[in-house]
Amino acid sequence: MTLQLNTANHDRDVVGMTYVYPVVSRRAGGVSVGINLNPNHACDWHCAYCQVPGLVRGSAPAIDLQLLHEELQSMLERILHGDFMQQHVPESCRTLCDIAISGNGEPTGCRDFAAVVRTIVTVMRSFRLAIPLRLITNGSYADKQTVQQGLALMATCGGELWIKVDSATVDGIRRINGVSLSPERLFHQVKSMSEGCPAWIQTCMFAWDGLPPSTPEVDAYLALLTRLKADSVPLQGVLLYGLARPSMQPEAIHLAALEPLWMEQLAARIQAVGYPVRLSL
Ligand code: SF4
Repeated sequence: MTLQLNTANHDRDVVGMTYVYPVVSRRAGGVSVGINLNPNHACDWHCAYCQVPGLVRGSAPAIDLQLLHEELQSMLERILHGDFMQQHVPESCRTLCDIAISGNGEPTGCRDFAAVVRTIVTVMRSFRLAIPLRLITNGSYADKQTVQQGLALMATCGGELWIKVDSATVDGIRRINGVSLSPERLFHQVKSMSEGCPAWIQTCMFAWDGLPPSTPEVDAYLALLTRLKADSVPLQGVLLYGLARPSMQPEAIHLAALEPLWMEQLAARIQAVGYPVRLSL
């Protein structure tokens, strides 16, 4: 049977590679080539909404750069010069949109992130690709030298970051992201990473046990954005998501999508801070 990828099928094993997987992405509006640096399903965070099955605490293992190079080259060859699109992708989505460093855990936790970016950029250049290279990150390794070097390289070739900010209170971050992190540290991470490469904030909002985020929660979130704006942190805007797909974590029983009106009102308040918003319900 020919496998048709669609927006509901994000199975990272469909092509049998270790690091590279194709996905039809509603975020990107076509085919995105994903780079999964966490085949061990390990992350330093534990987000309540995380869609990674078998998520464990930890960091990315050592990356086999030669294998990453070969897999990415092979995948792009099949997409650009082979029949991959015709075989596997619905006709309406046969556009290669981006390459996204986004996998089953936090990618920047690998030992040499800069070497990973160099490898990806080398392959992209060999195909003369002018599509974005995106990094989806929680920002927790912002201060590592190899991360800053990787960001600097991304910035020279159309790179873009999506940095997670789901809450700006200690309690909210602990409950939603499963990590002990102060709002001050969160501010620093977002500032540090977005100064290295053009960045969007990525926010997921949902109801917990039937209740939307509290007024103090929302106010703290907007206050963080306001502070980033006042500090001239060079953010492109906010990607605001609802709960589109089910969480694979035990916390899933607490979570539910918010009313579209609630999300639209939050989007309007973010815009009032001065940031463009892309809302995905
Ligand atoms: S940062 Fe990403 S991979 Fe890690 S737990 Fe959160 S959603 Fe999952």
